[in-house]
Amino acid sequence: MVNLKMFIDGEWKDAENQETRPVINPANGEVISYAPEGTTADTRKAIYAARRAFEEGVWSGISAQERASYLLKIADKIDEYADELTELETMDNGKPLREAGFDVGDAAACFRYYAGLITKPDGQTYHVADPMQAMVVREPIGVCGLIVPWNYPLLMSVWKIAPALAAGNTIVFKPSEVTPVTPKKLFEIFEEVGLPKGVANMVMGAGAIVGNEIASHPEVDMISFTGGTKTGKHIMKTAADTMKKVSLELGGKSPNIIFADADFETAVDYALFGIFAGSGQVCSAGSRILVEESIYEKFVDRFVERANQIKVGPGDDPATEMGPLVSKEHLEKVLSYIELGRQEGATVACGGNRIVKNNLKNGYFVEPTVFVDVNQEMKIVQEEIFGPVVVIQKFKDEAEAIKLANGTVYGLAGGVFTNNGAKGLRVIKKLRAGITWVNSYHPTYNEAPWGGYKQSGIGRSLGTFGLEEFQEIKQININLQVEPIGWFSN
Ligand code: NDP
Repeated sequence: MVNLKMFIDGEWKDAENQETRPVINPANGEVISYAPEGTTADTRKAIYAARRAFEEGVWSGISAQERASYLLKIADKIDEYADELTELETMDNGKPLREAGFDVGDAAACFRYYAGLITKPDGQTYHVADPMQAMVVREPIGVCGLIVPWNYPLLMSVWKIAPALAAGNTIVFKPSEVTPVTPKKLFEIFEEVGLPKGVANMVMGAGAIVGNEIASHPEVDMISFTGGTKTGKHIMKTAADTMKKVSLELGGKSPNIIFADADFETAVDYALFGIFAGSGQVCSAGSRILVEESIYEKFVDRFVERANQIKVGPGDDPATEMGPLVSKEHLEKVLSYIELGRQEGATVACGGNRIVKNNLKNGYFVEPTVFVDVNQEMKIVQEEIFGPVVVIQKFKDEAEAIKLANGTVYGLAGGVFTNNGAKGLRVIKKLRAGITWVNSYHPTYNEAPWGGYKQSGIGRSLGTFGLEEFQEIKQININLQVEPIGWFSN
């Protein structure tokens, strides 16, 4: 693979100081490319290009229909390059081809969704007391800074870029330094469909430098960030100085509640999918399974039996069901949590180790890991591990299930399994979380808002809410009786 470049003001650029960093295939530890180590100066060039493009109106000034036609062309190109994007995503992030393929399909659908939405009616009119026509229109915010993590290199990018562009904004985008490969292909598509210069800019490099500049720069009007809660807090503080609008999709420690009256095999199946899909590197992962005590032993036995059968391997092997973790650094973080769980007194019911056999020895593979004998105070129950590690807890009744489920600082997602419809809805309504499922786990829709309560974030991606994140709201009052107001006597 050729070395990567950044896309600034319609041109492919190296970092101004020519520095690069290696991009590693997590399945074998090999270097697949080198990415520019963007600097503050590179970031500023991208911000100024986006500002110029916004002020010139080359994007915000064209009709919504024209913008939609660009988005539709992008979607078509994503379909055209689907195989290439799928392979790149697997190489970049490690996820199995099957998962990467779904992400690519979702990415095209997301562009199509926002192409459709932006041409639909919006705004409101009001009946007010004066002879006045009062109305609201939606407008682009301006220059949007978009910062994404490594777990869905393509899809997380698209969840932000598609609505931001649909709304008429210009963007400065930063992929994770760990996974810049698929985002680069996406920007090649932007070039191919002829997005006007300066509308979409991509700067690669460290969060602490490039991301920080985007968050702090006065010419960036809004920041949309997906990543860890700690980084989200830092960004919010940084953005406060210039009073940017902030949208944050952060971490989670989501509960998956299994009642004794649930369809047992369905519950086990979705619980496995909930934690081990994406090797657990999914913000909404069902990383805390809460099981009603009468079926607890049976559930753990069956869950462990099936977890042990998951085929772990390189993402490009069609037989693989679970891939590696994204990086050596992340592998070490996950292993240290497993060690911490042991020290805290929890029992490893299965897994618990790095996999070093045969062709996996140079990759960052971890066994599907299940902890039992846990309590609510343990760090492995409270903190996001972001790997294939799950804790299974026991509850007595509905009230205790809800208490345990809501008992962390997070509030991103949650699931309930029961054949009692009223109970399912009752429990879901008590969950302090933004994304929930009954008798299911994980399905995500471009049409429905995505985001969290509590320390899982602020704002929503996707759906109409996801578009509104990238829009200003303007009140317009038109006087229908044009004569002096007569407030002052002379
Ligand atoms: P990080 O928070 O470490 O990084 C996310 C992005 O922010 C990266 O591009 C990173 O750059 C950048 N960044 C890091 N430091 C700063 C900074 N000081 N200023 C600005 N930007 C910065 O998260 P991870 O990449 O480790 O991703 C995993 C996290 O993302 C998990 O906690 C997960 O829950 C969360 N997530 C949430 C989702 C949601 O929808 N709620 C969806 C997906 C993930 P760099 O390249 O240097 O790392």
